[in-house]
Amino acid sequence: MTAGADLRSLAACGCEMTSRDVDLFVIGAGSGGVRAARIAASYGARVMIAEEFRVGGTCVIRGCVPKKLLVYASRFSDEFEDAAGYGWTVGEPTFHWPTLIANKDREIARLEAAYTSTLERFKVELVKSRAVLEDAHTVRLTASGARVTAKTVLIATGAWPHLGPKIPGLEHAISSNEVFHLPELPRRIVIQGGGYIAVEFACIFAGLGSKVTLVYRGENILRGFDDDLREHLRNEMRGRGIAVTCGHTVTAIDRAGDEFVTHLSDNTTIAADKVMFAIGRRPNVMGLGIDKLGVRIHEHGGIEVDDYSRTSVENIYAVGDVTNRVNLTPVAIREGHAFADTLYGGKPTRVDHADVPTAVFSEPELGVIGLTETQARERLAKVDVYKTSFRPMKATLAGRPTRSFMKLLVDGTTDKVVGCHIAGPDAGELIQVIGVAVKMGATKADFDATMAVHPTAAEELVTMREKAVSYGRAAAE
Ligand code: NDP
Repeated sequence: MTAGADLRSLAACGCEMTSRDVDLFVIGAGSGGVRAARIAASYGARVMIAEEFRVGGTCVIRGCVPKKLLVYASRFSDEFEDAAGYGWTVGEPTFHWPTLIANKDREIARLEAAYTSTLERFKVELVKSRAVLEDAHTVRLTASGARVTAKTVLIATGAWPHLGPKIPGLEHAISSNEVFHLPELPRRIVIQGGGYIAVEFACIFAGLGSKVTLVYRGENILRGFDDDLREHLRNEMRGRGIAVTCGHTVTAIDRAGDEFVTHLSDNTTIAADKVMFAIGRRPNVMGLGIDKLGVRIHEHGGIEVDDYSRTSVENIYAVGDVTNRVNLTPVAIREGHAFADTLYGGKPTRVDHADVPTAVFSEPELGVIGLTETQARERLAKVDVYKTSFRPMKATLAGRPTRSFMKLLVDGTTDKVVGCHIAGPDAGELIQVIGVAVKMGATKADFDATMAVHPTAAEELVTMREKAVSYGRAAAE
């Protein structure tokens, strides 16, 4: 098969003239794969990309983007209620799930088309097929049976929801794939998991009016996040009427007519219209043909790669969730870009996976960067902790019983801010900007020297003067 991609100035990008059909074959047109393909093509490489489902991958089709649209939808209920305290009279609001889903689907289709046209504009050839490696340089397209030879292969196949051990009635559980296409809003939903997806969807469904029970196996939700932040969010979620049940798992699901009976490990049961499991995602490494080629799989289940995303096979690379490094869209995009810069742009680039800011679109929203208090105490000789909890101004007239929380962790030796943890409105937006300062190595003195913007919530970050606690030698002195 001959690639339709132009044979453009190959010398310019250092691409060799070989008998191969393409310079680069990308498997998976999600965030990482599309970015790598587009940047490689911009350097003059002949690129083909295969996608068996929809262009855009998890983030665009059934992840971050549709999720955020649902988050927006879920937050209107508070707005309607809060408006009264500001003098508005709002009639009884009603919500129509099918309208939301249809509008969301239209927006996702628009984004998919935009991704596709970007690939076309950069002359990347898109094939709608599953791609399987026959050898390190030969890809078979299962849709047509055609074979394509490539100098380099990039695997960017992402990850897939994993539903855990086979329990009775597991077939009744939905995952984050199906949740975007439910025909109607469940009146009652049980969600198992305590990570990003479980917490976000618990808040989405609660905001839309469903009765939500979150079942988490550990002591508290969002393991790995700062303990104060976890506690704050759990309290806020409970305050919003979400039943957060920790220390239990779902052991069985029975169908009883139109509803499901969820059995928990403490022998209690919960009746619900839907049961959702969000208990992690597994890298998509199966069925690619890589096992027989000697592509090593890391013990965490992802494809093992070096700092430049090269696998144990010289011409095969991998980026994004399939490598199970930091499973976030912007990281996959950065890895894909760095791969293309390294191979085709003459700019060897490693991705810095340290201090990645991240947000959880819960209610309230979380934004975090850097070390948690526990990590800071383990790693640093001295740690100063600054924290504050306050009622957001908007909640005052609204009469809403919610609080915001902010915490700064400072290296007591260097004065550098090594962690920032925020729960409150727009925490995701805040942490993006704070992330720049933290990445630049800003000190607490730099934060203090920054004039406050008043009245905002963010001003708390530059006006925290009293240490809540100091650890290490500073504490002993
Ligand atoms: P996470 O890995 O974040 O959380 C999985 C949760 O399921 C944990 O609470 C875990 O418990 C629990 N769990 C795992 N196995 C079992 C089991 N057998 N029985 C019961 N509970 C179990 O996964 P998610 O599915 O929430 O999200 C997947 C990825 O998607 C994340 O890594 C995240 O990076 C990404 N994502 C990012 C978002 C964002 O940036 N806002 C939004 C959504 C997803 P324990 O803690 O005890 O291990």
